[in-house]
Formats: sequence, C-alpha cells, structure tokens
Amino acid sequence: MRASVGSRHLSGAERIIPIEKLEDTAHEFVARALGKGSLPDRIVLGVDALSAGSLIALKALDLVTLTVQGVSESREAALKTLEMAGVSEKAVEDAMRLISTGAALSGENMRGAMIMDARTGERLEPDRERGVRASRFDWTEPASNRIDLLLADAGLTHFRTKEALALATKVAHAPAMVAELCWSDDPDYTAGYVASIRTGYVRFPFLKEYGDPRGGRAFFVNGDALNTDALIEYLQKAAVRIAEAGTCRSAGDAHELFRLIKHDAQADMQGA
Ligand code: AMP
Repeated sequence: MRASVGSRHLSGAERIIPIEKLEDTAHEFVARALGKGSLPDRIVLGVDALSAGSLIALKALDLVTLTVQGVSESREAALKTLEMAGVSEKAVEDAMRLISTGAALSGENMRGAMIMDARTGERLEPDRERGVRASRFDWTEPASNRIDLLLADAGLTHFRTKEALALATKVAHAPAMVAELCWSDDPDYTAGYVASIRTGYVRFPFLKEYGDPRGGRAFFVNGDALNTDALIEYLQKAAVRIAEAGTCRSAGDAHELFRLIKHDAQADMQGA
C-alpha cells in the first residue's frame, strides 16, 4: 500500500500473507492510510501472487541494544561494530558523512539505500538519487507473536524496530552483503542500527540528535564478490519470511556490547 498527498509520500506498508488474510489486510492498510493525520488523495493497493515454493524462510538476527545516550559515543560504537563485521573505517566514515548531510545526488535524503564497497567506500548503486529499496519481507504469524513478546520485554514496542529487524534480516542474507548501517530520517526518531550476520542486529537508541531530519541507509558489500544485478534482484524481489525470532538483549556500555558480539560470533563458528 502506498498513500500520498500530491507528490508527498504519506504512508506505505507491505505484507506477505496467506490468501485467506487478503481482505482483512486490505482493510487494515486502507485504515492505516487514512489514519495518518492528513487525508491522502491517492491510495494504491497492489497484490502479487507468490508461489509457496519461492518463499525463503529465515531466522531473525539476534538483537542487542546499546543503552548509552550520547550520539558521538553511539556513532563510535557503531563504527567499531561495523569494523567487526568487516567494513573499513573509511567506508563507515563516508557513509556516516553522507547520511548526516543527505546522501541523494540532490542533497536530500534518499528513498532507498546506498550500496557501498565495504573496503573503499565507493558508491555502487545505479540510481544515486533514489537508492535501492528492499521489499518483500515479513514475519510468519508465530514468529511475529514471539518477537512482539521479546521486544515488549526489552521495552522496544515501537513498530519501527520490528519492521527494521525484518528488513535487516533479509538484507544481511543478501549475496555479497557485509553489513548495514541505518538511522531514520524521522526528526522525532533518533534510533539506528548496525546489522550483519557476524554481529547480529545492534541497536543504538541515539545515533542522531533529536530534531535532525537527516537519515538513510548504507548496504556495505564485498566489491570482489558483487554481482549488482543479482543483489538488487534479491533485495527487491526475493520473498523472505522471518519464521523464527532471535534473542533480544541489552548492553550497558560498549565493552559489554563487543563482548556479547564476539562471544556470539565464536559460538556460531564452533557450531558451524
Ligand atoms: P526509516 O527508518 O524508514 O526512516 O528509513 C531511513 C532511511 O532508510 C530512509 O531515509 C531511506 O534512505 C532508507 N530506506 C527506507 N526504507 C527502505 C527500504 N525499504 N529499503 C532500503 N532503504 C530504505
């Protein structure tokens, strides 16, 4: 569903559901489009049939929240987390600078994500104004119920966290993907995250100052292994259902965070 007023995007949402849920979901989406404060003058509902065999089932990334409040401390910890995932300091600094100043060619926020070489920071997305948008991901009902409980226990009830965790899980499994960095362009929403298979989903409640309208996403890739068409096809078209929730924990400082991440990465390697 996409709702707009004139050329201004108002709200959007997407689900992967069994056919029996189609009517209820259509109602829900129209209600969502109408409940945004301003009345849309255009609501577009699109429905695509997916064959059950084409659905990819994934387990959600484990989530850790670093509960520090300072933006510079959080960005420093995000940089270190990205380095642990295999991104160079230069690539992270380039991404943070671009996201904080408007990464689109026009200097605005992008609608989608940048694709950046994890070593050099070179931008690789074909459309530098819009970026690449990941879509076609959703929770299965049991996994959705489970993650709702875990996130509520962790005090993370904002719908954005659950959506971002699903998006990040899909993105982390993309071909040649190394890691992702994101913070919102909503001036009232200061949280952001770093996500990768190696580190899990690391959430930072203050990755930008309150009131700052700048935000964006960077997908860092291994340039040597990259097939851009295959990556974009996966991000836009592969249908991913998150069928299992991961863990939700918090870390009081960066040391504890890195200890948790390292411990998990080692446990994964031993289990592999
Ligand atoms: P949001 O967390 O929704 O405020 O999004 C933050 C930024 O991420 C936006 O400014 C876009 O640059 C980018 N973005 C939003 N949605 C997507 C998506 N589905 N795929 C890729 N990038 C996105």
